[in-house]
Amino acid sequence: MIGFALLVIKKKMVRIIKKQSGSAFILRKNQVLKVIDPNGEQVSDMVLFNHDDIKEKISSGKTFDFEESILLSKGDYLWSNRSRRMVQILEDTNGRNDFLLAPCSKETFEIMYDFSGYHPSCFENLSINLESFGINQDDIPTAFNIFMNVQFGDNGKLNVCPPTSKPNDYIEFKALMDVIVGLTACSAEDSNNGSFKDIHYEIR
Ligand SMILES: [Zn+2]
Repeated sequence: MIGFALLVIKKKMVRIIKKQSGSAFILRKNQVLKVIDPNGEQVSDMVLFNHDDIKEKISSGKTFDFEESILLSKGDYLWSNRSRRMVQILEDTNGRNDFLLAPCSKETFEIMYDFSGYHPSCFENLSINLESFGINQDDIPTAFNIFMNVQFGDNGKLNVCPPTSKPNDYIEFKALMDVIVGLTACSAEDSNNGSFKDIHYEIR
């Protein structure tokens, strides 16, 4: 009976982002966010804002500066535009993430996919969910693209490849300040090997 109760509690703690959707929530200092790819080959875009001042937000440029790498994984920090550490990556079972490319948007599908009409996107899903925190579209920075596999050659040419994540691969971030998190299950065909899946997350 106790085992059953624990199972129920544990189950409740797993939150689900349905395919091609998103979420936004507060992660308090010292809390840990675990982002899980339950089915494999699914990217999740993440943006971070300082809860107490949303003008401070995650910065790919500052992170590349201070981590001296464009590939971020276990042990690395994600930094803000004010040169402060926002989160640390505690664990990363897949080990491949991208911090170069912007969240997919309506324009991404028009320009890169030659697609017109409505298409769900990370940018829309981030905007909708972050609106209640007073965060506008123009405030959304380059996202940390969890599980995204962007390869690059010596000539700088970029190539978006299928994610290497397997079912139940996960990454964990420890908050070093109170942050607002925007998180998606990405909607771009090429980033997710042609199919869209859910993303799960837990906070502890
Ligand atoms: Zn996306």
